[in-house]
Amino acid sequence: MAKEYIIGRVAESAVTVPAEKVGVSGRHAKIIVCDNGQWEIEDLSSSNGTFVKDRDGNFQRVFKKVISENTVIRLGQEGHSSFVFIAHRALADEDSYAYEFRQLKKLLKYQLADEEAMEKKNSRNMKIVKFASPLAMALCIGAQYVVPALKNDPGLNLWISRGAMAAAPVIIGFFFGIDTRSVKALKQRRLKNLTCPKCGYPVSEFDIQNMQCSRCKAK
Ligand SMILES: [Zn+2]
Repeated sequence: MAKEYIIGRVAESAVTVPAEKVGVSGRHAKIIVCDNGQWEIEDLSSSNGTFVKDRDGNFQRVFKKVISENTVIRLGQEGHSSFVFIAHRALADEDSYAYEFRQLKKLLKYQLADEEAMEKKNSRNMKIVKFASPLAMALCIGAQYVVPALKNDPGLNLWISRGAMAAAPVIIGFFFGIDTRSVKALKQRRLKNLTCPKCGYPVSEFDIQNMQCSRCKAK
């Protein structure tokens, strides 16, 4: 027999929804844990909708969807009137957020690895771009000895050298540039994914390692 957990403002809700979360309906959604271990979420025609967080940390509206124990669910529209929790909370001890903090630790590990890889790539590319200008100059000096037209026309040679030196970093930078958009996207993902399971505000690395939110003291 599949187990069903009603979540909402009603007394029998499997997860306690704080009274101020007025965007949550009485019987808002249902979490189903199937016999084969599969988890599902189903919206129970709620007023403000049910949303699940995707890999990038953005909430997508769902009606019925297969999820995992670790899926982050939001009941209601974004803002203070909505309620956010991890699916596992339907089974968890009321006041313990240890499970969620363990998940945050894993997420932090992935996040730090991605940030480190991005930093490495950027510093490597910076070296390549720095090297581009002297390399272009060296090639131009070399060309004087190989191409007769350049050898006989110092003016033309100077013009080409200057052009190459100016253009090289721009052209090479285009292919090996600092990926500021991806850096920004990673920062965004960190803020969206590493949030306190109770108060919903972003948590610091220290909080995650400590397994306690310094803002609301959830642990
Ligand atoms: Zn908190």
